Amino acid sequence: MFITFEGIDGSGKSTQIEKLRHRLEKKGARVEVYRDPGGPIVSERIREILLNPDFQIDSVTELLLFSAARSQLMAENVMPGLKEGKVIILDRFFDSTTAYQGHGRESIPLQEIYKLNDIASHKRKPDLTIYMKLSLTDAKKRMAETKDRMELAGDDFFEKVIRGYDKLAEHEDRFFTVDATETVSEVHEQIWQCLNGRYYS
Ligand code: C5P
Repeated sequence: MFITFEGIDGSGKSTQIEKLRHRLEKKGARVEVYRDPGGPIVSERIREILLNPDFQIDSVTELLLFSAARSQLMAENVMPGLKEGKVIILDRFFDSTTAYQGHGRESIPLQEIYKLNDIASHKRKPDLTIYMKLSLTDAKKRMAETKDRMELAGDDFFEKVIRGYDKLAEHEDRFFTVDATETVSEVHEQIWQCLNGRYYS
């Protein structure tokens, strides 16, 4: 099974991913977790470039770099893991590209972004996408002091990213939206119930 987590920075994706991983492992599942961009060495190197605050990266270059990192992650880890019957959980996937590089940047038509997402994902869609919904105000309260290149973007950008995620959640059946302001254990229970309802019942 292929599960992805989405949401803006500070929405608590990593905490929920770890809780889900432990619970699935307790049930006997073999689970692998990766971050996108990241995972294999090639993708981690691309991530370093993408997040470096010293670099001015053109929006098309940015889109291609995120996509390149994703393709390598699919080839080296996700596709082989799924083939072996593992549960693969990703911290972000192509919906981040739709939300950030598409809705956020607004410089590349969404139809082109979708095409590239299709290529970079090796045409494999997630079975389930957990969207940790959080307002910008709440995200700001939680944000750490350290800022990478992306987090230096303005409020307007992040509002557009959130609207992008909301639209995806409205139209994609694989999306399950949780209110990220609820407690860690409440959010985890909702995710667990969703998973049981959809896949283990
Ligand atoms: O969530 P993670 O730490 O992996 O994301 C790193 C940074 O890259 C975050 O600031 C996130 O907003 C940004 N990002 C992006 N476009 C993506 C994925 C992540 O701008 N497709």
